[in-house]
Amino acid sequence: MVVRYGFPPELVVRPRASEADIEHAITTNREWLARQLAKSASSRLGLDRLTLTEAQGRREAHARIGLLAQSEAVALGVTYTRLTMRDQRSRWGSCSSKGTLSFNWRLVLAPHDVLDYVVVHEICHLVELNHGAEFWALVARRRPGYRESKAWLDEHGWEILAYRPPEARAA
Ligand SMILES: [Zn+2]
Repeated sequence: MVVRYGFPPELVVRPRASEADIEHAITTNREWLARQLAKSASSRLGLDRLTLTEAQGRREAHARIGLLAQSEAVALGVTYTRLTMRDQRSRWGSCSSKGTLSFNWRLVLAPHDVLDYVVVHEICHLVELNHGAEFWALVARRRPGYRESKAWLDEHGWEILAYRPPEARAA
């Protein structure tokens, strides 16, 4: 089952699921579903009161992330080829095998430590292009408290991804 902020929950079933299978999935997931609905109904960060436009957010994100990425890359002795800001609804950042780093501009809405963790995470991928034990050991070495930032994203990330700048709200 999939719940996206601002959309009704979706039940994803196999193409040939029977009526009974679907009924069963709903019944067994009822509690989870209720929790998800309650969660999406209560916005806790109050981002809907912000007036940050996408252009402002991208500028700010580029400046802050660029600075963090540079200093972390220098510290690890790695280089990247490009740094781009993206408008994504499902991910925070990515690192291609060619060394292009992309970040979600909405990260400027997160606390500094969280933004910092995402940048460090992607820079660490320039050393380890996977999520293996070596990778996480490197992240932990660079940011010993990274688990807290990760937990913050799990808890509040959806609200940031759901942020609509004022110009998009009016449309
Ligand atoms: Zn990663």
